[in-house]
Amino acid sequence: MEIHTNIPLKNFTTMKIGGNARFMTDVYSKEEVAEICQNAKSKSLPIFILGGGSNVIATDKGFNGIIVRMRISGFSVINDSLNSTTIKLGGGENWDAIVKRTVDMNLSGIEAMSAIPGTAGASPVQNVGAYGQEIADTLQSLEAYDTKIDKFITMQNSDCGFSYRDSIFRGEAMGRYIITSITIKLSKNQPQPPFYDALQKYLDDNNIKIFTSKIIRNSIIEIRKNKLPDPKILPNTGSFFKNAIIESWQLNDLKKINPDIPTYDMGNGHYKIPTGWLIEQIGLKGKVLHGMRVHDKNALVLINESAKSYKDLADARDEIIGKIRDTFRIQIQQEPLEI
Ligand SMILES: Cc1cc2nc3c(=O)[nH]c(=O)nc-3n(C[C@H](O)[C@H](O)[C@H](O)COP(=O)(O)OP(=O)(O)OC[C@H]3O[C@@H](n4cnc5c(N)ncnc54)[C@H](O)[C@@H]3O)c2cc1C
Repeated sequence: MEIHTNIPLKNFTTMKIGGNARFMTDVYSKEEVAEICQNAKSKSLPIFILGGGSNVIATDKGFNGIIVRMRISGFSVINDSLNSTTIKLGGGENWDAIVKRTVDMNLSGIEAMSAIPGTAGASPVQNVGAYGQEIADTLQSLEAYDTKIDKFITMQNSDCGFSYRDSIFRGEAMGRYIITSITIKLSKNQPQPPFYDALQKYLDDNNIKIFTSKIIRNSIIEIRKNKLPDPKILPNTGSFFKNAIIESWQLNDLKKINPDIPTYDMGNGHYKIPTGWLIEQIGLKGKVLHGMRVHDKNALVLINESAKSYKDLADARDEIIGKIRDTFRIQIQQEPLEI
């Protein structure tokens, strides 16, 4: 296992910001995961697991420990029944390549999550999701190295504490588990309506009336092309803010002043408000703050246009959060985690 020193984290994160990692290494097997964790522990060095770096912001101080890049591969069908196929995936597999491969097998369950950057192993961390699907819907179990007890463990879906863009892996157990594989169960039935509003609109606009996972994947790729900047060209982390979740009394208050506020009823007395809409209402869509541009096609996305440091990004973020709080009395949250 090669260990590199003083590596600029901006080269390994899609926001292209931040200081250096003291050490960095790639792991290709479970044995290497165990080895690097025990090595780090013996030297009292913290570790941080990195996938594709598409949902992580590196701060200016960098990381005084070992960045472990998850590179474990694997795609194996472990069960095939009349209605479903269960597949075990290595934590380092590219997410979109997996979606494509399962769609090519005529399976459905993750096709609406097409074109999301990153790795399979990171998908449970923020319960990755898009256009009405999330990994919690199909994930059966996962294997992880538990750095607390120095053992590999298996976790079932119900152990992961999944909720909207959240799980124990970015909450109470942040940094504890290194996910080496995930097992997902996909359906042999083709996707059925009702579809997510924006997807349904695209299908209607294009007169698409037959739904296969391949047709849904291609539709999603087209929709996303117009809404999300390619991080290889314009550095970003996709949605920079989570959508806001509010209670019904807050919604009633807000509706008095903003009767047109778009809402999604989550069915438990809570409502999702598109944060992009809130940012648009305060006039920041397309604007540049401290070198960070609020994307003109999707105000949830911040693009690093000319930010010189993490501080610039933090200043832009705090300005947006403050304005939303002052205008709507809603506290919005950053989606990407920080190193
Ligand atoms: C253009 C663009 C569009 C996006 N669209 C979406 C979207 O539609 N929906 C969505 O949910 N997200 C979206 N994202 C965010 C991101 O792609 C996902 O969150 C993705 O799952 C991150 O994967 P990654 O491998 O890049 O993780 P990283 O950014 O490398 O890591 C993210 C977090 O997960 C942890 N982690 C990574 N791998 C492991 C592992 N094996 N074990 C334990 N912890 C791990 C890291 O420590 C870190 O805390 C988008 C990002 C971009 C740039």
